[in-house]
Amino acid sequence: MHLIKCPWCGERAEMEFTYGGDGTLTRPADPEAASDAEWTDYVYFRDNPRGPHEELWQHASGCRRWIKVRRNTLTHEILATGPADRPLEGNAS
Ligand SMILES: [Zn+2]
Repeated sequence: MHLIKCPWCGERAEMEFTYGGDGTLTRPADPEAASDAEWTDYVYFRDNPRGPHEELWQHASGCRRWIKVRRNTLTHEILATGPADRPLEGNAS
C-alpha cells in the first residue's frame, strides 16, 4: 500500500486520493488573445513524462483539499507533496 502525505491530514493510504491530472499546466496568460492552437494544446495535449513529475491529487476521502504531488512515474515513489496553490519544495526535475 502506498502512502501519500496530505499537508493537512498527514500520511494516508493512496486509495483515499483521486488523481487530478498534470500539475504543471498553466492557462494561456491572455485568454482573449490565445490562438485556437494554444487552447487546444492547453486543453487536450499532455506529455507522458518518464521519471519525476508534478501532479494534482485530491484527498477525496479525507479533507477533500487538492494537493500537489511529485511522483516518479517509473517507480510510483512519492517524492514530495504540498498544497496545490504553492510550488513544491526541492528540485522540480
Ligand atoms: Zn487531507
